[in-house]
Amino acid sequence: MDLFLSDYAEIFENLFEGLYVVDRNRVIRRWNRAAEQLTGFTAEEMIGRRCEDNLLNHVDGHGRQLCISNCPLVEAMNEGQALENEVFLHHKDGHRMPVRVRINPLRDRCGEVVGATELFVDMSEMSGIMQQVEDLKRQTLTDRLTGLPNRACLEGELQRSLDEYKRYGWPVGLFFMDIDHFKAVNDTYGHERGDDILRLVATTLAHNCRASDIVGRWGGEEFVGLVRNATTASLLQVAERSRMLVEQSFIMVDGRPLNVTLSVGAALVREGESAAGLVRRADHLMFESKHKGRNCVSADV
Ligand code: GH3
Ligand code: MG
Ligand code: MG
Repeated sequence: MDLFLSDYAEIFENLFEGLYVVDRNRVIRRWNRAAEQLTGFTAEEMIGRRCEDNLLNHVDGHGRQLCISNCPLVEAMNEGQALENEVFLHHKDGHRMPVRVRINPLRDRCGEVVGATELFVDMSEMSGIMQQVEDLKRQTLTDRLTGLPNRACLEGELQRSLDEYKRYGWPVGLFFMDIDHFKAVNDTYGHERGDDILRLVATTLAHNCRASDIVGRWGGEEFVGLVRNATTASLLQVAERSRMLVEQSFIMVDGRPLNVTLSVGAALVREGESAAGLVRRADHLMFESKHKGRNCVSADV
């Protein structure tokens, strides 16, 4: 019996919903990929089994075993009608999960019912929980004031870049930026304006960062940029451009432009250097820029 046209095989396999096909004797003839993912049972394990072999062992909300006494597949085939139900299937790992099932009788060309399809979707709150986990992860890695990656995020990314350097030899460059005389901005214009300036600097830095690079707020009025697969020249170029663009950014306060400048230290990773070691070196170079008179970039070259 040809229960399934090969033309539809790909659609069948790529559905988000679990879908299986049984013949009139409730022998499973097809079992798609989503069904494998949702239940843990592979097509190999399922095809050829009868659904009342009770692998899935559907129970309703009262714990009644549907496969034995009240099989919705049998009902749909006997009545020749589609039906929908919410049941709890038995996952291969042992747990129960709520699924919404939709059963359709399958007919041959003469209209005779020759089997049925069961489409099922996950109704658990799991996806909502996973979404919350993702949201929390994003929150813990984002600086609230500026929306940039925070220090924890930067540290993670730096470690990942150092691992890549070790494994593939792609050097990472780090530039440490500190706003000049920022305390004076707060003292003169107030903390709120200070926050506006921090957001301004952050936005300028973020907009001028390549997709493969990352820039974030290290803390206070300090920012850090990471340049992946860097050379001394490319690192210096990004650091110098960041300094220049921040100098050229401003907000209007009482009809006058207010801007700040950055002192920057840029360091390319050295062999065997730790994350903390690289940050320390860039930080020292930033202080060199302060001593030179601020609003400049210092680097180990
Ligand atoms: P220097 O050029 O030597 O770096 O001088 P500076 O004034 O920038 O350095 P200092 O370390 O003395 O002051 C940093 C200031 O940054 C002090 C602190 O109040 C301010 N600051 C840190 N975090 C925030 C923040 O989230 N919002 C605002 N408005 N100010 C902040
Ligand atoms: Mg500082
Ligand atoms: Mg400062």
